[in-house]
Amino acid sequence: MHEISVMGQLIKAILEKLNEYEFKEVQEVEISVGELAFLAEDQLRFAFEVLTEDTALRGAGLVIKSSKSIVKCENCRYEGPLNVEDDPKYHIAFPIFACPKCNSPVEVIKGRECEVTNVRLTIEQDGKEK
Ligand SMILES: [Zn+2]
Repeated sequence: MHEISVMGQLIKAILEKLNEYEFKEVQEVEISVGELAFLAEDQLRFAFEVLTEDTALRGAGLVIKSSKSIVKCENCRYEGPLNVEDDPKYHIAFPIFACPKCNSPVEVIKGRECEVTNVRLTIEQDGKEK
């Protein structure tokens, strides 16, 4: 399952970063998933739950935000989002993205990333946030 390995990398990065902080617990992790990454939200949540079980992230909330794509077409100079929503032809392992204007293959500028955008920590007993 692709989501497990992606989430594993994110969690590893978060835990490394957390070494720099003193905190009581992690409240919430927010990630941004590009719409061309085709990571299923429920699979990401499942992976997060399983992979954080024995870590400092255990019990933390997970917020998943979807970010829009930007593609660039060399043929007609189109630059903008790709409308991939609910199009099953893209739900394969290595989809080829075509320009919405001229149908040529496009270069993906943005939309395949999956990154941590925010981590909320409880620093003290009174619930101060950072
Ligand atoms: Zn084009």
